[in-house]
Amino acid sequence: MAVSLLVRGCGRVSRTFRSRGWNQLHTVYQSAELPETYQMLRQTCRDFAQKELIPIAGQLDKEHCFPGAQIKKMGELGLLAMAVPEELGGAGLDYLAYAIALEEISRGCASTGVIMSVNNSLYLGPLLAFGSQEQKQKWISPFTSGDKIGCFALSEPGNGSDAGAASTTARPDGDGWVLNGTKAWITNAWEASAAVVFATSEKSLKHKGITAFLVPMPTPGLSLGKKEDKLGIRASSTANLIFEDCRLPKDSVLGQMGLGFKIAMQTLDMGRIGIAAQALGIAQAALDCAVDYAEKRMAFGSPLTKLQSIQFKLADMALALEGARLLTWRAAMLKDNQKPFSKEAAMAKLAASEAATRIAHQAIQILGGMGYVTEMPAERHYRDARITEIYEGTSEIQRLVIAGHLLKSYRS
Ligand SMILES: Cc1cc2nc3c(=O)[nH]c(=O)nc-3n(C[C@H](O)[C@H](O)[C@H](O)COP(=O)(O)OP(=O)(O)OC[C@H]3O[C@@H](n4cnc5c(N)ncnc54)[C@H](O)[C@@H]3O)c2cc1C
Repeated sequence: MAVSLLVRGCGRVSRTFRSRGWNQLHTVYQSAELPETYQMLRQTCRDFAQKELIPIAGQLDKEHCFPGAQIKKMGELGLLAMAVPEELGGAGLDYLAYAIALEEISRGCASTGVIMSVNNSLYLGPLLAFGSQEQKQKWISPFTSGDKIGCFALSEPGNGSDAGAASTTARPDGDGWVLNGTKAWITNAWEASAAVVFATSEKSLKHKGITAFLVPMPTPGLSLGKKEDKLGIRASSTANLIFEDCRLPKDSVLGQMGLGFKIAMQTLDMGRIGIAAQALGIAQAALDCAVDYAEKRMAFGSPLTKLQSIQFKLADMALALEGARLLTWRAAMLKDNQKPFSKEAAMAKLAASEAATRIAHQAIQILGGMGYVTEMPAERHYRDARITEIYEGTSEIQRLVIAGHLLKSYRS
């Protein structure tokens, strides 16, 4: 309860920062450290990860086991609906708080991090931004406490990066809709109680024919594919959603007809801040593991940390991590201040995911043989890091987004 109040107390202070607009950015940059409330939030999440996640993360990974009890506790702390207003059951915090919390949770367990990320930014995010009052009451409030979680279904077997080519169809039927098709790679699919699903009502319109639908789970006409056997984040489920004449009522449309592609792209902008934060957490965990090992491991009569080549590796790892963290916080603060943040979110995700992969790779190198076995967490961090370069837009797609903004700014 005390911890929960701490997190919620942060919301009140963060609103004060927000009302001062850019002062929030200035506070962070001028003092070169986080305001105290965010530091308190970070400590709360760090303590939670230390106590509840780090001791079991290896086992969860090995057994592909969903961390149900931990997700429930995170819901009680307000971590599953961080940017949702308190009147809807959320923590009423901002995206900077979300990025900080998600990094700490992912430092403890990257699978738990992605479960938290999908519920916060991919499921609740579009509902908050585009839902009617009735939809917010029905589809947000029950998903804030950890009792229920949501998922986001955009990708298909035939298209991932090219999301505008959706082939899952939504056919009008009486006063509702009938969905047919398959959505692929859906995180939280096996545990979710609802999904935001993207389907086309007119394929010839391409992305303009796509609409977002709110789908309860389970529901007749919707079945789940097998759980994918993944390289990393193995404690989170990933599966197909298969729609076969799945009937939905008229009020299932989120936003309006034809707005689905815009909803998806805006949602992914928010989601990328979350995945950047997840990558930071994985990278930090890998660095922690490398430093700890290098301090203890003796070679040629002294600890590894006495060797300059090891020191250089550690310095490069810390540099990449810190740079990516600043990009992530900047993207979050731009969003919090209602400024454009699409390019910055892409930069943050690209920098953090590539840093995580590189840092986890180097951590294994520093551990030598011990980096290669499951006795130590370095190999798990390496496996977990890899997905952050793929989902919510591959690194190639982030570069396209960044280049698009960059060239536009030169041409205007
Ligand atoms: C574990 C996991 C969880 C996921 N969770 C979800 C989820 O919850 N919801 C959801 O909707 N999706 C989810 N996804 C799907 C994920 O977002 C896609 O896998 C990703 O967007 C890439 O799509 P793809 O796999 O079809 O690859 P493709 O789009 O086929 O791309 C293959 C390769 O081609 C490159 N490429 C494609 N187009 C271009 C281009 N224009 N220029 C340059 N290079 C290009 C890509 O970068 C990549 O290297 C998940 C995937 C995984 C593996």
